[in-house]
Amino acid sequence: MLNLHNAEFIRSAVKEEDFPIDDMPQIVFAGKSNVGKSSVINKLLNRKNFARVSAQPGKTIHINYFSIDQQAYFVDLPGYGYARVSKVEQKRWGMLMETYFAMNLLTLGIQIVDIRHKPTRDDVIMADWFRASNRPWVIIANKLDKIKKSQIEGNLAVIRQTLLLPHEVPVIPFSAEKGLGKEEVLELIFEHAGKDELA
Ligand code: GDP
Repeated sequence: MLNLHNAEFIRSAVKEEDFPIDDMPQIVFAGKSNVGKSSVINKLLNRKNFARVSAQPGKTIHINYFSIDQQAYFVDLPGYGYARVSKVEQKRWGMLMETYFAMNLLTLGIQIVDIRHKPTRDDVIMADWFRASNRPWVIIANKLDKIKKSQIEGNLAVIRQTLLLPHEVPVIPFSAEKGLGKEEVLELIFEHAGKDELA
């Protein structure tokens, strides 16, 4: 079993030569700025400030690599969709995605959206990247603690429709704040990055 406590930052990647190329599975996290991507990663790893929370929007666009128990990478894609980001930065984001996805390094894609809202245009673009990768992919619908129980089902359906999710892609209601949904996500991660898969 993967020991989640044994996690360390490896490097920030901005170009092809920076990406580690080895046999370790790559669990990739994506989401728009402020959706709670850092909080989700921190929650999964049981850390407070591991992945930086609320990194300043518009700062350098890079991909952060973390090693988990020297058996898998958590790959933190740059947050997208920040309103005040320049055209130049949007283009750099697109080019970095192109570089990463072209290298076919992805083992499992984890896309984080806000359970309260219809996914944005940028969420749809990100979903297109994951769909085109043909790799297993799951959606975390974060901030579950902010909606009423009666809204959950309807909101999940909107997310599914808007992102054009294939049936096999699960949408997992999640709260990084409360830890809801954590076990389900960890199970998926273990399934794709556990020792068994490596053997
Ligand atoms: P990132 O930019 O996607 O990495 O987002 P952060 O992890 O920095 O979170 C953005 C804000 O949303 C912070 O104020 C978090 O405390 C808050 N947040 C993240 N996840 C949740 C959640 O599940 N519930 C609630 N209520 N707030 C959350």
